[in-house]
Formats: sequence, C-alpha cells, structure tokens
Amino acid sequence: MSAIPIFDSHCHLDYIARQTDHPEGETGSDSAQVMERAIAAGVQLLVNPSVTPARFPEVIAMAERFEQVYAAVAVHPTDVADVIDQPGWLAEVEALLAHPKVVAIGETGLDYHWDLTHVDLQKRCFKALLELGRKHDLPVIVHDREAHEDVMAIIAEVPGVRGIMHCFSGDAAFARQMIAHNFYISFAGNLTFKKATNLHEAATETPLEWMLVETDSPFLSPMPFRGKPNEPARVKLVVEKIAELRGISYQEVAEATTYNARKVFGLL
Ligand SMILES: [Zn+2]
Ligand SMILES: [Zn+2]
Repeated sequence: MSAIPIFDSHCHLDYIARQTDHPEGETGSDSAQVMERAIAAGVQLLVNPSVTPARFPEVIAMAERFEQVYAAVAVHPTDVADVIDQPGWLAEVEALLAHPKVVAIGETGLDYHWDLTHVDLQKRCFKALLELGRKHDLPVIVHDREAHEDVMAIIAEVPGVRGIMHCFSGDAAFARQMIAHNFYISFAGNLTFKKATNLHEAATETPLEWMLVETDSPFLSPMPFRGKPNEPARVKLVVEKIAELRGISYQEVAEATTYNARKVFGLL
C-alpha cells in the first residue's frame, strides 16, 4: 500500500544538500536520497523557499530537477544585510516570479531573536515583499520569530495580501488574527515538543481548512529526532501530532493540509 499523500510546505533542500559534513551523517547530502525517503513517507509536494539572492539559482535548480519540488524567492529577515548594496534585488525577485515552478514569495518576515541590528531594513524588505505578493496575487511565506505584533501590524498595512505563517509559534488567538488577514497557519516540528502548550492549543483550535504542515528542514526536527538534522520525510510526524491533538485520523489531517497547501500555492 502506498503512503497517504502529504505536503511539506516549507523545507530547505538547498541547505540539506550542503550538509556533506554533518556529524549525524544519517540525513545524507544526496538530494536524490532525501527525495526518495520523502516520497516513501508520502510527501508528494514540497516548497523550497530561498533566504538570499545568492541562493536563488540553487533553489530554482532544485525545483527544476525534481518534479515534486516547487520554489519561493525572497530574502530572509536574518539575511537582509545581503541586499544592502544590491538595489536590484527586488527586481530580481520579481523577474523570477514568472518561472513556472516559483509558487510563492518567501521567506520574508521579522526575526527579533538573533540580531536587532537591521530591524528597520527587515521591516522595509518585508513590506516591499508583501506588496509584491499582492501585486502578483501570490502567497507570501512569513517568518515570524518573537515579532508577532510587528508582523501583524505590517501585514495590516498591505490589505489584500495573502500567505502563510510558516513555523507558527503563536497561540490560538494569534492564529485567529492571522487567519482574519488571509494567512494560513503552518505547523512544524516544534509542535511535537512536550512544553509547546500554546502551540498544542493553536493546533487544536485552528480550523482544519486553515492549516498546513512543514518541516523547515534541516532545522527543527520533530520528536524523537529533536536536535538532529531534519528532512522532509519527517513532516509525517507533524501530521501525526495534529491528528493526536485533535482526536482525528492521520488521513483526515493529511488530506486537509495537502488540499490547503495545493490551494494556497495554486497547485490544485
Ligand atoms: Zn523561517
Ligand atoms: Zn525556513
């Protein structure tokens, strides 16, 4: 019997491919093997967002190489310094939107966890990319780390934009507010952590028709692989956790999240 189809809405295959010297070794750097394990686990579609213009060629090449892989282009909030001396970066993003396998703008957003040096630039890039998403009617993949209020305020400045809150880290109330702004809620491996009670509540209360699943691999491995390199096959564990929390079947969660992801990325 073949595995039930699932959709990893956010994974960094380009990062995984660079893990040649990872001490764990178990993930392997061979993208073909990573994809083989993903497909065996039921992962039929994957979106690989970019973090900086220098990675666009790798991300696009990955999407061209594997039928199941789609790409997104943008600048990650912790990488905004890369575009300080590149006035053409936004035009470069916009030009790539015409590529048949680019299905979203991402990832962008605000990250207040690591470094606050470029907060103003983070905000300017984020807003420009939200406006680009609205202009092209493409979903925007939002990274929000310890920045819920500002993320919501900037999204509110761009009415009509739509997208995805990737690796959701808020509570049920914040999820509701983001859904009201037309943003899907994507759950990642941190949902499986024992102490993530706010997330458990959000994954229980968020309407199934607004939920996606992702790995954010190679980061954020779900239990029992916490701390080890992650890969798309493990999105299965996120689906399992949601099913357990809601008291519904794996199949129901898999079907709903796959349908939602296909819908938001225009792949129905
Ligand atoms: Zn992110
Ligand atoms: Zn990411």
